[in-house]
Amino acid sequence: MSATAASVTRHDWRLAEVKALFEQPFNDLIFQAQGVHRQHFDANRVQVSTLLSIKTGACPEDCKYCPQSGHYNTGLDKEKLMEVQKVLDAAAEAKAIGSTRFCMGAAWKHPSAKDMPYVLKMVEGVKALGLETCMTLGKLDQEQTQALAAAGLDYYNHNLDTSPEFYGNIITTRTYADRLETLSYVRESGMKICSGGILGMGESLNDRAGLLIQLANLPEHPESVPINMLVKVKGTPLADEQDVDPFDFIRMLAVARIMMPKSHVRLSAGREQMNEQMQALAFVAGANSIFYGEKLLTTGNPQADKDMLLFKRLGIQPEAREEHDDEVHQAAIEQALVEQRDSKLFYNAASA
Ligand code: SF4
Repeated sequence: MSATAASVTRHDWRLAEVKALFEQPFNDLIFQAQGVHRQHFDANRVQVSTLLSIKTGACPEDCKYCPQSGHYNTGLDKEKLMEVQKVLDAAAEAKAIGSTRFCMGAAWKHPSAKDMPYVLKMVEGVKALGLETCMTLGKLDQEQTQALAAAGLDYYNHNLDTSPEFYGNIITTRTYADRLETLSYVRESGMKICSGGILGMGESLNDRAGLLIQLANLPEHPESVPINMLVKVKGTPLADEQDVDPFDFIRMLAVARIMMPKSHVRLSAGREQMNEQMQALAFVAGANSIFYGEKLLTTGNPQADKDMLLFKRLGIQPEAREEHDDEVHQAAIEQALVEQRDSKLFYNAASA
């Protein structure tokens, strides 16, 4: 396929053709991905989300990559569910530095009946600030999903992590079928889906292709597809895994872009280990969403001011929310940056 041929949204991807996408020469793959990207998006806009951990650590699941799992001793400070007002204060700060979506993550197997009222208040409060809302709380039942949708939750994040074949090597306490069931409840409720996976867990090329096939062959593509690079944390079983070849990571982004042409592909965890050149290449390959802010759940995230400087050098603008027109949004960001000039997140280009 040439870079200019019209891309079609498909749900019938097969392993051999996906592997062929991965295995083509790097330049051809990037050219094709960039061509698909430009058919559906402004190539110089990147969506910006902020992620806050609202309940940290002591998770009963055993995901081998995760420092929050109660199965591993990673020295992480555990925190119980944050107070609603503190979450709203963090959301207001995220909005002030230019985020359009606020993602709240809790290390749970599933939300409990006792916690749901607080979670719903958080959604309502963040929504009232004019931000898009996203949560990741583990497995949901139908009733919880409906309640979250009614409270105004826009996105639910639930990653498939890897292929069905490799999944059992990484997680044993929750099945792949459970994950697909939660995704189907989210879709039925009318919320948008954020679902992706992780590279660097010892998976094969077939597993990387298999993950993308699972996501792309869902009845509707996830609106948001986070592609994470494993952040190796001491104390987790994957702490000594081999590094992913950076070009293989970029290939994954490019193939995701081609297979899910209208989805936001998010350059997600692991970005701190990437230099600016690699991040720029990720945007060329079709990544058009990042997490922005000081912390990405429990692992580091490059400082927000560094991100804004990189955007500036690349001529990238933060993507506006759908319901705002660009000019209003851009003016709001500029205004917010002026107000934030004394904050540690503020990058003053004039004095650099
Ligand atoms: S990835 Fe999520 S579900 Fe798995 S251990 Fe970590 S917090 Fe728990």
